Amino acid sequence: MTVIQKLLILVATLFLSISTTGLSAGTSKSTEPTIATESHFRLRTIVLDAGHGGRDPGNVGRGREAEKDINLVITRKLAALIQKKTTYEVRLTRSDDRWISLTERASIANENPANETLFISIHCNSHSSRRVHGIETYIFDIKATDKFAAELAKWENKEEDFSSVDFIITSMAKRAVERYSWEAARVIQSVLVSHLGARDRNRTASDKMVRRAPFRVLVDTRMPALLVELGYLSNRTEYKKLNSSTYQDKVANALLTAIQQFGQAMEADRMAARLP
Ligand SMILES: [Zn+2]
Repeated sequence: MTVIQKLLILVATLFLSISTTGLSAGTSKSTEPTIATESHFRLRTIVLDAGHGGRDPGNVGRGREAEKDINLVITRKLAALIQKKTTYEVRLTRSDDRWISLTERASIANENPANETLFISIHCNSHSSRRVHGIETYIFDIKATDKFAAELAKWENKEEDFSSVDFIITSMAKRAVERYSWEAARVIQSVLVSHLGARDRNRTASDKMVRRAPFRVLVDTRMPALLVELGYLSNRTEYKKLNSSTYQDKVANALLTAIQQFGQAMEADRMAARLP
């Protein structure tokens, strides 16, 4: 990180600390969509973002099935389960095979209230070593967990150019919802790993639970947001599994369980804080 970038972060932090003092529950008169603050998050809507699409296949992996198609199938299965089994609203950034920019995905998410919405971006990974396998869940941070996470974010951001200045300043706003993003990512990672018997690749994160990287789609979304990499298409076993309808159902069911657990934890928090 350059000296200029460090200075920008400092300025942005000061700006954010001034601007968020007027954002505590019930005091904001702004008509702009609010940023969720620690005191009033309640889960009502889940925005599901199937990674890639159209001209961007994502990872192609070992066979002909592209990441974009697997992401979409699992996203649609999960959306159907949420509609059938919960009272949460569900929205998709794409419901068919089309290209949609990362900023557009975030704009769709930002049409929903930040203090009632969880954004989940669904992806599958790839690695030059075919032995690498397992599940990872990420939240936004300007500084990546490790070199591997930095490379991954670079790859997932590749479709778009953006100014690093805008990126740094916008990213500071994510601090207000970081606690919720972290909690949702922690629950999702732990439920996926245990329900699917998958390798937990978040163990190498600094807190051993949630990985961090500067994903574009996570910085522009105002609500708690996370990105999940469901497995490695470059690994033979995981490629086969992720292409099987039975395993895709299992993944969707595990994600549903995790979302419900997160929603219940948020309700418990509200009860403990005696919020309406
Ligand atoms: Zn991807």
